[in-house]
Amino acid sequence: MNVILMGPPGAGKGTQAEFIKAEYSVPHISTGDMFRDAVKNGTPMGKEAQKYMSEGKLVPDQVTIGIVEDRLAQDDCQLGFLLDGFPRTIIQAEALDGVMDKLGKKIDAAINISVPDSILIERMSGRVSCKECGKVYHLIFTPPAQSGKCDKCSGELIQRSDDNAETAANRLQVYIDQTSPLLDYYENKGLLKNVDGNRDSKSVGADIESILNGL
Ligand code: ADP
Ligand code: ADP
Ligand code: ZN
Repeated sequence: MNVILMGPPGAGKGTQAEFIKAEYSVPHISTGDMFRDAVKNGTPMGKEAQKYMSEGKLVPDQVTIGIVEDRLAQDDCQLGFLLDGFPRTIIQAEALDGVMDKLGKKIDAAINISVPDSILIERMSGRVSCKECGKVYHLIFTPPAQSGKCDKCSGELIQRSDDNAETAANRLQVYIDQTSPLLDYYENKGLLKNVDGNRDSKSVGADIESILNGL
C-alpha cells in the first residue's frame, strides 16, 4: 500500500497517520517531522529549512524531493508507505512519479482530508505536542490528563512555533496557492479519495480505513 495523505495544515493528517501506521504496519513519512528533526539537531539542512518554516513558506522543492527520494529507497518502505505532507507542489508530485517509476512502484491512492478554514485555524492554534515522544494533543479537543504534561511519557507539551496566528494564516494561503492544484492532479489520475475531516477523528479514521481496505 503506497498512499499519500493530503489536506491543509491542521486537517488531521498526522493524527490519522498515527492510526494508519499502527493498523497497517507501514512507515509514516512526514516531511514536516523530518524537517523539525533536522532543525532540532541543527543540521545544515535543518538550518536551511528553518528559514522557510518560520515564515510558513514551503522549503524549496529540490531539498524536499531529495530527502523523500532517499527515504523511499530505504528497506522499510519496500512493502508500502504512508506519505504525509508530501507532495505539496506539482513539481514535487511529478518528481514523486519519477521516483516511483525508478523503483518500479505506483501510488495506490491520494487521500484528501478536507476541513473548513475557520476550523483549521482553531485546530492549529490549540495544537501542542510532547517534546520527548512527539505525541500530538489539542488543548480543547484532546487535552492531556494533566495540564502541560504528556499522558504517555510525562514529557513537556510545547506549541509548534509555526502554529501562531500569523504563520498559520500564511500556511493556509500557501496551501491554497501551491498545494490545492494537486487535487486535480490526482483526480485526473483517478487516485483522489476525499474524506470529510470535519468530524471526530474516529469517524474520519473509519472512512480512511474503508478506503485502504478497498485498495
Ligand atoms: P496536520 O498533521 O494535518 O497538520 P494534526 O493531525 O496535527 O494535523 O491535527 C491538528 C490539531 O487538530 C491537533 O491538535 C489534533 O489533536 C487536532 N485534531 C486532529 N484531528 C481532529 C479531529 N478530527 N477533531 C478535532 N481535533 C482534531
Ligand atoms: P502542517 O501539515 O501542519 O502544515 P507539516 O508538519 O506538514 O505541517 O509542515 C510544516 C512545515 O514544514 C511547512 O509549513 C513547510 O515549511 C515545511 N514542509 C513540510 N513538508 C513540506 C513539503 N512537502 N514541501 C515543502 N515544505 C514542506
Ligand atoms: Zn510524550
